[in-house]
Amino acid sequence: MPNKKKYNVNGDSGMKAQIQFADQKQEFNKRPTKIGRRSLSRSISQSSTDSYSSAASYTDSSDDETSPRDKQQKNSKGSSDFCVKNIKQAEFGRREIEIAEQEMPALMALRKRAQGEKPLAGAKIVGCTHITAQTAVLMETLGALGAQCRWAACNIYSTLNEVAAALAESGFPVFAWKGESEDDFWWCIDRCVNVEGWQPNMILDDGGDLTHWIYKKYPNMFKKIKGIVEESVTGVHRLYQLSKAGKLCVPAMNVNDSVTKQKFDNLYCCRESILDGLKRTTDMMFGGKQVVVCGYGEVGKGCCAALKAMGSIVYVTEIDPICALQACMDGFRLVKLNEVIRQVDIVITCTGNKNVVTREHLDRMKNSCIVCNMGHSNTEIDVASLRTPELTWERVRSQVDHVIWPDGKRIVLLAEGRLLNLSCSTVPTFVLSITATTQALALIELYNAPEGRYKQDVYLLPKKMGEHLPHAAFSPWGVGWGVAPGQDVSLSPLGGD
Ligand code: NAD
Repeated sequence: MPNKKKYNVNGDSGMKAQIQFADQKQEFNKRPTKIGRRSLSRSISQSSTDSYSSAASYTDSSDDETSPRDKQQKNSKGSSDFCVKNIKQAEFGRREIEIAEQEMPALMALRKRAQGEKPLAGAKIVGCTHITAQTAVLMETLGALGAQCRWAACNIYSTLNEVAAALAESGFPVFAWKGESEDDFWWCIDRCVNVEGWQPNMILDDGGDLTHWIYKKYPNMFKKIKGIVEESVTGVHRLYQLSKAGKLCVPAMNVNDSVTKQKFDNLYCCRESILDGLKRTTDMMFGGKQVVVCGYGEVGKGCCAALKAMGSIVYVTEIDPICALQACMDGFRLVKLNEVIRQVDIVITCTGNKNVVTREHLDRMKNSCIVCNMGHSNTEIDVASLRTPELTWERVRSQVDHVIWPDGKRIVLLAEGRLLNLSCSTVPTFVLSITATTQALALIELYNAPEGRYKQDVYLLPKKMGEHLPHAAFSPWGVGWGVAPGQDVSLSPLGGD
């Protein structure tokens, strides 16, 4: 029976875990709440869409309320070094992983190309990320490259139980299930690092909780750890804080700001998901609708392109003259928000800024105007200003609120002003493939880097390595970006300048 000691971030029994709520921490790569069971029913529907996964949910009549920590489970090889909801779901999870593999050519190419070289031979990677079919493809790639992995979830709601089961069945020690409590969350992380006869030498983190746990509980482990790869805005921020305080004791790679993430995730992910998010929540028709997009950076460009292609009339607001000119050159009408706020059908924020849509704007919008955010967290629209006694909130669907003025006018607020695509639609697997490949390359680089190449600081992935990615992503179909037939995209040694 696994031990039932209570865990929290400080490693002290019984103290309240220092887990922040979604409002405080939400960001584009979305780390929703890690709140306890009491809030589960309210939040679970949101969490299912918070996840990056597009997989259908699987239920089995044998699923029950018993905590996975109280179950004795073994995989078909007799191993019980895992803790998942139900190992019997493995076959269903395997099919999800196979579907994801089809859309993750960069990762599959990396797996194929580097398999002979085994650039991660000897690596012992402890990971804490969303556990989805896409992450499973990453983990199995790391395994194929020679690494041993132990994994926990970075989010209490986003684990796909069947995928976790498939990984456990394949021999990966995975400790995660959908709907973990706070205590479960830290327990799972602890089960990944606190193992007899096994010590990690690499960390792959999404949000910084795993890194933080090792700092608090097992600081000596850092003697053997060669590096940290961090995926999220929050985690990167925590690493920079550690670095500034002179407490970062190993090199860390900031995947979040890598060019391969910014150029693909921000632009294409938003282009591919904005319509889906709007359609799922409102069933609207886009043709002929007047839309104002605030901000014409990568995210704004993606949204505008998708809406224009569907026949919407798109206005853009911008404060940066270069981006403003780009919007004009791309055929969009550049406006001030005030000029169009009364006439538009949809308002979309994409700026990364605060209070771009104010209460005054909201007051002036026409009846049934749809308001949503694709930019930063939930600060772009001043949602707090709508929580006043004269306005009535009506929840009409999951993630859809009608906010009603005393005269009967109503606006349609999506996802309470949080990121529309991460709350109400799915993210393309192909984009996740690029991010996952960046993570894998960062691990290979840090693990193989000669002594002295990296100091105890936070680094971006060397550009040269990022440039392997498009080759890897497209070469299996012969699309090739300048890859001559037979040309090898060597993966070792990797980058460094
Ligand atoms: P960016 O810096 O390229 O673009 C933001 C643009 O907004 C800039 O051109 C800036 O001048 C403009 N801007 C700032 N304040 C403004 C204002 N008040 N009015 C009009 N324009 C204004 O950034 P980006 O890559 O487009 O990302 C934007 C935000 O979206 C960031 O917060 C990012 O974290 C987030 N993001 C979201 C997703 C998603 O899936 N929804 C994906 C990636 C990034």
